[in-house]
Amino acid sequence: MRSTMMDAPLQISRILEHGSTVHGSAEVVTWVGDGSRRMSYAEVGAAAARLAHALRDELGVTGDQRVATFMWNNAEHLIAYFAVPSMGAVLHTLNIRLFPDQVAYIATHAEDRVVLVDSTLIPLLARALPEMSTVEHVVVAGDGDPAPLLAAGGGRVAVHRWSDLVRDRPSRYDWPEVDERDAAALCYTSGTTGNPKGVAYSHRSIWLHSVQICLPESFGLGPTTRELAIVPMFHAMSWGIPYAAFMCGASLIMPDRFLQGAPIAEMIAAERPTLAGAVPTIWTDLLTHLDANSVDTSSLTEVIVGGAACPPALMHAFADRHRIDVIHAWGMTEMSPLGSVARPPAGATGDDAWRYRYTQGRVPAGVAARIVGPLGEQLPADGRAVGELEVRGPWVTARYVGDDEPDPEKFRDGWLRTGDVGTLSADGFITLTDRAKDVIKSGGEWISSVDLENALMAHPGVLEACVVGVPDPRWDERPLATVVLHQGATASAEELRDFLAERVARWQLPERWAFIETVPKTSVGKFDKKQVRASFGAGALD
Ligand code: ADP
Repeated sequence: MRSTMMDAPLQISRILEHGSTVHGSAEVVTWVGDGSRRMSYAEVGAAAARLAHALRDELGVTGDQRVATFMWNNAEHLIAYFAVPSMGAVLHTLNIRLFPDQVAYIATHAEDRVVLVDSTLIPLLARALPEMSTVEHVVVAGDGDPAPLLAAGGGRVAVHRWSDLVRDRPSRYDWPEVDERDAAALCYTSGTTGNPKGVAYSHRSIWLHSVQICLPESFGLGPTTRELAIVPMFHAMSWGIPYAAFMCGASLIMPDRFLQGAPIAEMIAAERPTLAGAVPTIWTDLLTHLDANSVDTSSLTEVIVGGAACPPALMHAFADRHRIDVIHAWGMTEMSPLGSVARPPAGATGDDAWRYRYTQGRVPAGVAARIVGPLGEQLPADGRAVGELEVRGPWVTARYVGDDEPDPEKFRDGWLRTGDVGTLSADGFITLTDRAKDVIKSGGEWISSVDLENALMAHPGVLEACVVGVPDPRWDERPLATVVLHQGATASAEELRDFLAERVARWQLPERWAFIETVPKTSVGKFDKKQVRASFGAGALD
């Protein structure tokens, strides 16, 4: 029997219309360095309509052409997030922190025709533009000098100012009906191995993912939420928060380019967010600032940390010293990105609750997960069997952009191979031990680099610790620990080894240590282990 229900398509334009009317008084706040500028969601709705008119009528954007952004998190980026997919075109969020040749590769692969750029990023975009061969128009938001773009475009690229382009355009747009399975947005992985790979999210996948983001078991966004959206809008769609916020009327606080601990603390005190999300390195930086300064963080009761394993010591420091609950989450660009959120089940309290919070979290209904052994055999979900985690679901990609068939390295029988290694419990909690490529293989045994890092970061003198495997003639690989100490702290390799010896098996203890100023980070702020291996692997202290 077919259902009797309407087949109303799940479109981004519906989220925009809903957010800008029903939640028209919710606001997006953009930090400008010494304060903020504000726009209501009603104003965002009108601005999205104006931008769509300009893109269509002035720049000739039609069909599913790609409109890229090269922007920080701010109101204009939010406007683009809604205008481009709502008009049926495809939004492509370019990662501003990649090397120019990577930006050009991605833009060309995606066939970007238009790029919207923040004026503070003009010099960066100008470096990539000569090789961005499909780009015909650049639109500059803000009042910076566009001359470098004109020079880099070499007559091929027309440069427009956003404010001129949208002036006098209608504040309403008759959004077309789109197929909910068509692409709405494109995001490329940051390409830690090989070339970046593209994922095309559909209107439908974004809708379903947004609903999940709002649920209390996930991020729990609602009309009283003020979300400090630190995760870049060019990295996994800022974890889907912009779309979810419009769906439920949560207000957004956008940090623009001010991402250090000090300005983030200022934003928290001034704009009173109730929730925030970022990778662990941002929270480590903020913690250092909060410990040294008196900042009113009373509005912020919960922050979400994901993108890399969160050291338990970081969670405890925020809870004990600042009364902020750090909630651990896991996901991937390929998963829109939500995979799991670590909220303890009913009845878990005290240490029991903490044990759940250390895990990567529990999968929602939209994410089916399984653990697979080395021969592709499914292992039991018993919280003990260790293998590669595979997932599938309506907001998980089935292949990469441009591939006719799923790449067998990354997909198996309709499942996405995450490249993450760990366990799955019967009640759906994932515990990751490492990324498959970061596990240290020593004498036939596996050492989790993350376990060593977490243990080291529990030492009071250690700010950051990044552990990688380096070649060893006898054991194949052995761990090398790179350590950043807190300012003014002293700790020798011997002291840290002794500290570790109480927490991990002796055969796992690193022999090689390097004390460094800072751990190199990837374009999305994670420990860059490839770089660490290249820089410290050979020259480390023995
Ligand atoms: P990139 O691959 O460019 O770093 P992604 O954000 O898509 O970009 O990375 C996804 C990967 O990040 C996951 O496969 C996993 O290895 C890691 N990751 C994300 N969240 C966590 C977490 N909470 N704990 C451990 N690893 C995580």
